[in-house]
Amino acid sequence: MENQLGPVWVIAEQIDCRILPVSFQLVGQARILADRLKTSVETVLLGDQMDAQIHQLFAAGADRVYLGNAPELTYYQPEIYTEMIVRLAKAHRPEIMLIGSTSVGTELAPLVAARLHTGLTAHCIDLVLDDKKILEQKIPAYGGMISIICPEKRPQMATIASGVFPQPDLDENRTGEIVPLEIPAEIPHRIQTLEIVREEPDGIPLESAPIVVAGGAGAGDPEGWKIIADLSETLNAALGSTRPAVDEGWIELESMIGQSGKMVSPELYIGVGLSGELQHMVGIAGAKVMVAINNDAKAPIFEQVDYGIVDDCREFVPVLIEKIKEYQEKLVTC
Ligand SMILES: Cc1cc2nc3c(=O)[nH]c(=O)nc-3n(C[C@H](O)[C@H](O)[C@H](O)COP(=O)(O)OP(=O)(O)OC[C@H]3O[C@@H](n4cnc5c(N)ncnc54)[C@H](O)[C@@H]3O)c2cc1C
Repeated sequence: MENQLGPVWVIAEQIDCRILPVSFQLVGQARILADRLKTSVETVLLGDQMDAQIHQLFAAGADRVYLGNAPELTYYQPEIYTEMIVRLAKAHRPEIMLIGSTSVGTELAPLVAARLHTGLTAHCIDLVLDDKKILEQKIPAYGGMISIICPEKRPQMATIASGVFPQPDLDENRTGEIVPLEIPAEIPHRIQTLEIVREEPDGIPLESAPIVVAGGAGAGDPEGWKIIADLSETLNAALGSTRPAVDEGWIELESMIGQSGKMVSPELYIGVGLSGELQHMVGIAGAKVMVAINNDAKAPIFEQVDYGIVDDCREFVPVLIEKIKEYQEKLVTC
């Protein structure tokens, strides 16, 4: 039976022939949306030697996988990937297209959206259907949360970071249809990814750290930033940041937490010299215990945390580090 509405699509992503967790999270959310729309979930997967992994997409909720399986697709190739997805989308008319907010996804999504003459909402932090079954693509803006809708053009496109939606329960008994794809011969190859050289990240990865210390503009200068970094090291924590800290060059972009950065869910989060803007706070929604250190008692962060310390971080944090070290030494000698 033909679906009344087009399918919900997920553009899955792989690195080293392994499908990324965000792709499964998006398939899980696509399943929820598709069930409400009474339509199917379809996934496009481009890579090489991917056969062994496809059943996981079905287990996560996909009904059909369009599979491009060829050595030329091992790495993300902007022209080939865009052309293959655009041609497929024109042929199968998805209602919704979801893509991970990864380095690849944030480039690929606008390339595809522009070619399909449709809208795209980047870095969504929720996706729901309104009563007319239009996708509300939620992002933090204007000091609150807003919904962006694309009522006329199709597909309705959104990028979403890893960790926004949970990993779906896998049903290993689910199966689906695999549709093999050919690489169209006439696609230009002006840009080619020949090799990917990965930088090994320093320290504990933010996404899996039990303790996260995040610093913000209140650090003031590189010296102030060093104090926050020392606190992180003392606690054996991962060091995160807000956007201004990145803009100041105190730390790399990979450390940014929030709407356009990483999503973290530590047992303990300590925000130092940061105001608590929604674009940052959406990234720590999963934190269990939250602490803030800020010299302005009226800073919005204090309304969002479990424990607040009103003080100059440059004076308070060195004392805190000293006390933690004393405590750690006592633990060792006990
Ligand atoms: C589309 C969009 C996406 C964005 N995505 C992100 C994102 O993913 N992540 C992100 O972080 N931001 C993001 N931003 C930026 C975000 O809106 C805020 O500007 C940013 O989070 C504020 O960072 P901050 O709290 O460090 O700085 P500020 O808001 O300037 O706050 C600094 C705080 O430090 C305090 N302070 C100053 N001196 C001291 C001191 N000596 N001791 C203690 N406290 C002190 C001040 O009282 C103040 O509360 C985004 C913005 C947009 C428009």
